[in-house]
Amino acid sequence: MTKADTATPDTDTGASEKSDFIRTIIREDLAAGKHQGVVTRFPPEPNGYLHIGHALSICLNFGIAQEFGGRCHLRFDDTNPKKEEQEYIDAIQRDVRWLDFDWGENLFYASDYFPQLYEWAEHLIQNGLAYVDDLSADEMRAYRGTLTEPGKESPYRARSVEENLDLFRRMKAGEFPDGARVLRAKIDMASGNINMRDPTIYRILNAAHPRTGDSWHIYPTYDFAHGQSDSIEHITHSLCTLEFADHRPLYDWLVEHLPVPSQPRQYEFARLGITYTVLSKRRLIQLVQENHVDGWDDPRMPTISGLRRRGVPPEALRDFIGRLDINKNEGTVEIELLDACIREYLNKNAPRRMAVLNPLKVVIENYPEDQAEEVQAINNPEDDSAGRRAVPFSRELYIERDDFMEDPPKKFFRLAPGREVRLRYAYFVTCTDVIKDENGEIIEIRCTYDPETKGGNAPDGRKVKSTMHWVSAPHAVEADVRLYDRLFSSEVPGAGKADVMEDLNPNSRTVLQNCKLEPSLGTANDPGTVQFERLGYFVPDPDSSADRLVYNRTIGLRDSWSKQKAKGG
Ligand code: ATP
Ligand code: MG
Repeated sequence: MTKADTATPDTDTGASEKSDFIRTIIREDLAAGKHQGVVTRFPPEPNGYLHIGHALSICLNFGIAQEFGGRCHLRFDDTNPKKEEQEYIDAIQRDVRWLDFDWGENLFYASDYFPQLYEWAEHLIQNGLAYVDDLSADEMRAYRGTLTEPGKESPYRARSVEENLDLFRRMKAGEFPDGARVLRAKIDMASGNINMRDPTIYRILNAAHPRTGDSWHIYPTYDFAHGQSDSIEHITHSLCTLEFADHRPLYDWLVEHLPVPSQPRQYEFARLGITYTVLSKRRLIQLVQENHVDGWDDPRMPTISGLRRRGVPPEALRDFIGRLDINKNEGTVEIELLDACIREYLNKNAPRRMAVLNPLKVVIENYPEDQAEEVQAINNPEDDSAGRRAVPFSRELYIERDDFMEDPPKKFFRLAPGREVRLRYAYFVTCTDVIKDENGEIIEIRCTYDPETKGGNAPDGRKVKSTMHWVSAPHAVEADVRLYDRLFSSEVPGAGKADVMEDLNPNSRTVLQNCKLEPSLGTANDPGTVQFERLGYFVPDPDSSADRLVYNRTIGLRDSWSKQKAKGG
């Protein structure tokens, strides 16, 4: 997975035909008349929430189906009841829909095929191609051999068809404890490919299944379920990540030796890796279970639900994935590319609002008390059709604490004693006084305004060096704002560490309280992800309640992280 030529993204145009080795194979297959149409599938195991890597697989499988006028199935690979839950099934469907893909009628579960898979297992036994093995897990491992040495045949390998059938049926009936026996395909213990050394195809698991309940005591392995499920669904191109390449001979062997209804083919591509990010369900489960994050949809998580909660639009995620090459080269994509896609989309589409995160009170001394007026603010300078909105202005305002300095250095152009600045969309104001508390901390700024500068321009043409955002104090809506940074502070989390969690960034979340938002914001009129002018992009969090608004920062306006990195900070 390498970064594609980002100068020519595949987005928007629709005209640019996507091209990669998989699409080339499909075009050739269709041209040669090998298939009437294309059928792909996205096959998640419902044992966790989907992450950005899965998003790539979703965009690939559903995208190909759309481009070639075929269809893409959503198939839950639910063969391990110990780890699978309905919560995950629901979350996966929500996430695929959110990415704007539709499986239509084609929602399937590998568990729907358990009766057929069982019949095929008996078919193998009857043809002398599978046997029940009583070796313990440790013994099986020892018999399996290594990459350089062949395996040894199990003493149970020569069991008769009758004995195998009897034992397998009793496994199915629940007569044996977990792990007592397995069913193995009889292939070749000397094969150079360890997956072909009599792989396990059924194991005993006396566990209730979310969909089939207590009906089964044995469950097929991934290898036995996957290809056969593809075949049942008439999948033409079964796309998976490279770690399954060594399983392909087994996939093909099973399709060849079973009376399956169609001959699917498996193709492998490199999985997506992203800097500063872990993309492995095992790690993500650990983050959730050890409470390093607040759940699967914590906005710091690289899950689809986490990105959604952080305010990332699905279009931005799809754009990011569209810019990646699909190939066989394992590599890591820089997270800055994802950030850039998010900023690019939001810059074009997010409405602008004014909010003050770290408020400092300003009193306009010559503005009448009890007066308020509305000024007109541009909703999106990138989009004229977004129009304008009215924002209240009054005698008491908040500005950003950072935007004032009592004793400014040379390059500080914002507000300072005696200095005039523009309050965006409103007036020019000049600082006349600074009020401090008994500890010498600034608690209020006094200003005067020039009524002639309404709208933010002086009729005499005089200029100011700074334009600042502000919020009218009596009209302000209060909110907590959660700022996020990278969850891991190392480019390759866990590299050279005993535990990947050692690389967690202790400052990945900062919560600011009593932030002041303009009154067009709030749960009642939520415009989704917005730009707080000069600050970044923000979205309301579902933790918001009637008396406490909570916002998440989706992303800052600029890439401050790369700058820090360059400085070695
Ligand atoms: P993980 O390795 O993160 O635990 P998984 O591969 O076990 O994920 P599945 O539910 O089996 O998770 O994955 C469903 C599909 O998504 C598979 O076809 C898998 O190849 C693909 N997939 C998973 N992770 C990635 C990734 N990082 N990049 C691309 N595709 C991925
Ligand atoms: Mg998997």
